[in-house]
Amino acid sequence: MIKQVFSGIFQIKVPLPHSPLIHLNSYLLRSEEKNILIDTGLNFSQSFQSLRRGLSEASIELEDLTEVILTHFHVDHVGLIPRLIEASGNIKISIHPIEAELCRILSSTYKDLFAKIETFLKSNGTPSSIALKLTESHPLHEPKIIRPYQELAVATHPLEDGQVISVGDYHFQIVCTPGHSPGHICLYEPSFKILISGDHLLPSITPHVALWWFTKNMNPLADYLNSLKKIEKLDIEVVLPAHEETFINHCERIKQLQDHHNQRLMEILTRSNSRRFTAYMKASQVHWNINYKSWNMFPPFQKYLALGETIAHLYFLEKKQLIKRTMVDQVLYYSINEKAKKRKKY
Ligand SMILES: [Zn+2]
Ligand SMILES: [Zn+2]
Repeated sequence: MIKQVFSGIFQIKVPLPHSPLIHLNSYLLRSEEKNILIDTGLNFSQSFQSLRRGLSEASIELEDLTEVILTHFHVDHVGLIPRLIEASGNIKISIHPIEAELCRILSSTYKDLFAKIETFLKSNGTPSSIALKLTESHPLHEPKIIRPYQELAVATHPLEDGQVISVGDYHFQIVCTPGHSPGHICLYEPSFKILISGDHLLPSITPHVALWWFTKNMNPLADYLNSLKKIEKLDIEVVLPAHEETFINHCERIKQLQDHHNQRLMEILTRSNSRRFTAYMKASQVHWNINYKSWNMFPPFQKYLALGETIAHLYFLEKKQLIKRTMVDQVLYYSINEKAKKRKKY
């Protein structure tokens, strides 16, 4: 499925098999001198064929593509890179250096990756048998999933904040928006007031913000909230997101996301039965907007994602000195600073 959203800018809906997200929106920026694709889709034949058909509806063949820009390293965005490299020879691949480094970490530590994940889960209070189940459910076990990281680990061109990408009449600025991933970027066109938002801003899905073993010493939620403020200041008429449909009123959407995180932080601080808790305990108490009756019924990978999100919120509160963290027998425990419970906004 393809839609020309602006003259020379096409949205191609690439199916995401087995994913609740259903589609990834890949964007083609077409001009006389270059053709740039933004984000790709999962590494499945069905997705690749669909992307190829979409491009050809816009009169572009795979070998006509000159560059792929990746908004971030998540697998639904980078998955088709190996097939694009194979089909179009020396295509230029651009991504933020932090994301390129993550691709290197994921592919170089592949062998002990799962041991690291399991240790991380246990240190956050996940019972051993569940930690094993969650680790076994991780999508990186799938060779199809890890393959793009091996390609991206070797040769990519770095994108930096403020860099301008000119295609035809458009001059897109790279805007660094860390949070959903540490080196996430958006593309902003100030004259036409267009934002290609990746996963930073989606019309109804709340972008996932998590802290993992490989994002140590980062504060993803603080980064995400700062990135929202950065985008809020831009003059934008239309947002072209990586999932769902194009939308307007970006400031209204940003306000909803800010409120969501504020509520989640308050929930973490107030809904507490015990003085001391682990991230795993807290994740099981938080209300998740998901169609399962109880925490125990969550599929393993959903539990894993919920835990990463909870840890990001706990780390944010710890940096604000609203909670304290202590390590006991290699497990991290948190306790709430009493003054924190009286706050309305974080
Ligand atoms: Zn993502
Ligand atoms: Zn995505």
